[in-house]
Amino acid sequence: MNFELNQSQKAIVNAAREFATKEFDSELAYELEKKHEFPMEIYKKAAKLGFVAPYVDEAYGGDGLGILENAMIVEEFCKADSSIGLAIDLASLPCKFLYRFGNHDQNERYLSKITSGEFGAAIALTEPDHGSDITQMDTVAIKNNGSYRLSGNKTFITNGTIADFYTVLCQTDPDASPKYKGMSILIVDRDMIGKRFQVNELGEKMGIRLTSSAELVFDDLEVPEENLLGKPGRGFYQAMGFFEESKIEIAAQAVGVAQGAFDLAYQYAKERKQFDKPIACFQSMQHKFVDMYLKIENARHLVHKAAFKFDQGQRDHRAAAMAKYYAANIANEVTYDALQVFGGYGYFQEYKVERYYRDARILSIYEGTAEIQKNIIGTSLFPGL
Ligand SMILES: Cc1cc2nc3c(=O)[nH]c(=O)nc-3n(C[C@H](O)[C@H](O)[C@H](O)COP(=O)(O)OP(=O)(O)OC[C@H]3O[C@@H](n4cnc5c(N)ncnc54)[C@H](O)[C@@H]3O)c2cc1C
Repeated sequence: MNFELNQSQKAIVNAAREFATKEFDSELAYELEKKHEFPMEIYKKAAKLGFVAPYVDEAYGGDGLGILENAMIVEEFCKADSSIGLAIDLASLPCKFLYRFGNHDQNERYLSKITSGEFGAAIALTEPDHGSDITQMDTVAIKNNGSYRLSGNKTFITNGTIADFYTVLCQTDPDASPKYKGMSILIVDRDMIGKRFQVNELGEKMGIRLTSSAELVFDDLEVPEENLLGKPGRGFYQAMGFFEESKIEIAAQAVGVAQGAFDLAYQYAKERKQFDKPIACFQSMQHKFVDMYLKIENARHLVHKAAFKFDQGQRDHRAAAMAKYYAANIANEVTYDALQVFGGYGYFQEYKVERYYRDARILSIYEGTAEIQKNIIGTSLFPGL
């Protein structure tokens, strides 16, 4: 067992840190927040330097890195700025569907354009009546003369308004029993937006405001058969396979957000004086930092372990769920405590920590809520019950 990063991992972390420190700017993040605008320029620059979906094969413009190295990059980005880091990472997350289940043509068409920064993408699983439970879908796609006719609504879709393609989970065999055996994933292209496919922004939200959150409405949209991902009837299993991996990435986001808030508070505590001393001198303040430090360190270990196992080809649902549950949970706790260190100043935008606090909240909701992760961990502890 070796807890040290190797030389190549150290170089990746340093390069990601250098890039994020130079390019991510808090004032810009607040400006983009107001306009609900995606940090497109930074996304493209990050892609040029190989930081976007670096786990994709070299054949499609990636670097063939492991999930572990990707987690390190994601942590650095979300640490440098929670809003910019999260937005950039979320735009490439759907890649995982393509590179695991897509064919060569699809990978050339979509993956290569994500790694080059030309494309951003969106995942469309959630429906108004199906959130935590995606074992059945109201969105239906019926095959007819070499294409599918897609109808239904998706909601909360991140980057919905800017995505160049959407991976849409739908029922292609409505008579299947159980229902999840009749689901498939269709890739819907941005240029299909029109009368039969509409994308509507959902409006103001608490955090991750550099991403849009949209409703997708399909009304008998024709989707060519070649846009089917893998085989028909595999959609639910593909979604579960996707989660195994994406949860680890979300957990890495959480470690980054927590570490970023910690760093801001740490600096402030050494500078801010009350009762003629830096507030860092007060033992109760130090205890707060100890708690935060321990939580972040534990979360990082869980993320690295889950990512390491994944890269070794070991599929461990419990390890991924533990990393996602714990890291998201502590990101909420750490950002809360970090803001507390700032007292009243933390409540204002100037000190930036309030944005980390707002951005952290989603981490326990998307990609499977905290409760669902606990269900997975609990079930794995009592198999067969
Ligand atoms: C900002 C944002 C971005 C998102 N981005 C995307 C995206 O890009 N693509 C996408 O497809 N979806 C996305 N989602 C949707 C997200 O994944 C869902 O909101 C989430 O899975 C929960 O579904 P729900 O909101 O319908 O809540 P529900 O499933 O209705 O759950 C409500 C509450 O009940 C609890 N609960 C439900 N079932 C159980 C159970 N069996 N045991 C214990 N507790 C349970 C939940 O944990 C939760 O606390 C996004 C959501 C948000 C808010």
